[in-house]
Amino acid sequence: MSLPAATLASARRAAAARLAAGLGPDATPALDARLLVAGALGIAPDRLILVDDRELAQAESHAIDAAIERRLAGEPVARILGEKEFWGLSFHLADATLVPRPDTETLVEATLAWIDRTHGRDKPLRLLDIGTGTGAILIALLSELPRAIGLGVDLSGEAARAARDNAARLGFAERSLFVRGSWSACSGPVDVIVSNPPYIESGIISTLDREVRDHDPMLALDGGDDGLVAYRAILADLDRVMHPGGAAFFEIGHDQAQALASLAGESGLTVEVHRDLAGHDRVVELHRLTG
Ligand code: GLN
Repeated sequence: MSLPAATLASARRAAAARLAAGLGPDATPALDARLLVAGALGIAPDRLILVDDRELAQAESHAIDAAIERRLAGEPVARILGEKEFWGLSFHLADATLVPRPDTETLVEATLAWIDRTHGRDKPLRLLDIGTGTGAILIALLSELPRAIGLGVDLSGEAARAARDNAARLGFAERSLFVRGSWSACSGPVDVIVSNPPYIESGIISTLDREVRDHDPMLALDGGDDGLVAYRAILADLDRVMHPGGAAFFEIGHDQAQALASLAGESGLTVEVHRDLAGHDRVVELHRLTG
């Protein structure tokens, strides 16, 4: 005699209960269970509830168990699913890419606000994304700017490939180019530079949340002794690449606005700071002083 097959709803509740018991107090077990069950079954999360009564095949139950085990072992949901939503678009991840963070949408918003003020969204703008990772920032911008073109560079060839694949899957291949390379190999002029560079001080990497430290690539996190190495390199010769009337937008750590303001001041740039939804300083906007 075989056991009655579990329904999708009961499997989801059981998964949430296991996660609630096994993960810490900051966890989101119900949400994680919903995303992981949907991912294991290949169903869109918002459609899951419509098929709550469906009975699961044994292979499906196993796939759900495997995903829950990985989550209990500390792997982030996005890494298990292999994708993360950013700006309403789904980005595939690679080992060499950071998981796109909701806070980084602040960078996209600040950039679009500047474009709205200065050019308008229908202008043929040239964009450059330094350390593009999944390509999330650049592709989000292209999705809002119908005539813009963009170059994304990353020190990791695996990241550049992941970004290229994301652009192709999301329909932006013709307006984007993703290459392995460094800032020093970029040339301009471009109207907009965006970057979420590595900005964590090397000395505190070991204190980061385990899910970040163990699963995000060091190359995307480690900002050198003072966390500012990447910004300094870019600001040292921003004018080589940025059009005089252009602007640059960098994500920063919540306590780095002052440091960025002085670096920018030394380079004769004006600075505006933008906060994320949690109220933390998150993005600096830089312009060349004119006149
Ligand atoms: N914001 C990321 C974190 O929380 C860091 C990203 C970066 O260094 N660019 O770990």
